[in-house]
Amino acid sequence: MDSILRLLGLVLVTLALLNLYYFRRWKRPVSVNYHFTRRCNKTCGFCFHNATTSYMEQPDQAKTGLRLLKNAGMRKINFAGGEPFLYPKFLGEMIDFCKEDLRLESVSIVTNGSLVTEKFIKKHGSNIDILAVSCDSFHEDTNIEIGRGSGNQVPQLYKIGVWCRQYGIKFKINTVVCRLNHQEDMNKHIDVLQPFRWKCFQVLIVAGENDSSSTLRDGRKFLITDQEYQGFCQKHSRQKSLVAESNRLMAKSYLILDEYMRFLDRDGRQPSAPILQVGVRKALQSVYWDEKAFKDRGGIYDWSRKEGSCSEVNQGLDW
Ligand code: SF4
Repeated sequence: MDSILRLLGLVLVTLALLNLYYFRRWKRPVSVNYHFTRRCNKTCGFCFHNATTSYMEQPDQAKTGLRLLKNAGMRKINFAGGEPFLYPKFLGEMIDFCKEDLRLESVSIVTNGSLVTEKFIKKHGSNIDILAVSCDSFHEDTNIEIGRGSGNQVPQLYKIGVWCRQYGIKFKINTVVCRLNHQEDMNKHIDVLQPFRWKCFQVLIVAGENDSSSTLRDGRKFLITDQEYQGFCQKHSRQKSLVAESNRLMAKSYLILDEYMRFLDRDGRQPSAPILQVGVRKALQSVYWDEKAFKDRGGIYDWSRKEGSCSEVNQGLDW
């Protein structure tokens, strides 16, 4: 009897250790980018998340998926598109749910800015930690050439900057550095706008999305060399908010959930099954995502509207 009990004990301890081992090895979706729509009101020539479908989850389904992600370890959600402000009702509902029900540390939105209104910010701003606005040039002609402008991109950016300050939201600017803007000097505007983070990405080609004349967009003509990208970063190196993200860092380090709530594979393979069907853990196991590159690029930072509130602020960042 003793030996059976001892054997049973040994089996239980082994199982517990194995469980702990796999628990520790399992990648957690700490920060997720949910591209809930591919539709956009702009036509940037290098866009790599195009309107190949207009599918969107029903709000209840999307909330179920977000809750699954939270239970799996998500701490930050970023709503992106396409253009998320094409659906202000859906967006507002998701933001409020993530903050008030799921109590996520950080809720952010990436937008081209054109449809952001003060009314929306007034209503939902207390549940938004970061608002990131894409701005690739302070010359409207260049914006129009890129496919983003209709001539009022810059004044709208300034307005959003003011609203963010007014409503206590961290204001971020995203710039894609490409053939049309890599020689531009943006220092003067960044000095005035003072974003808390200014991310400058090197234009990126994604297989099947913007890599040929048969994809909806062909980003190849916007490509720049690594030296040209570094030249742009060098020109703006006095900007404390500047976060440079080259192709090497960017390509595989973002955890992207598409409009069907599937993780996109960052190594060119098929997306995962929808998390609503197979759960987060199984979906995540079926795709490649470079968690180390995510951490290397400072993916965990002070991402809440409350200063210094993130428990794992990346020491490598200089703010
Ligand atoms: S604004 Fe963004 S989502 Fe829309 S076309 Fe341009 S890059 Fe793509």
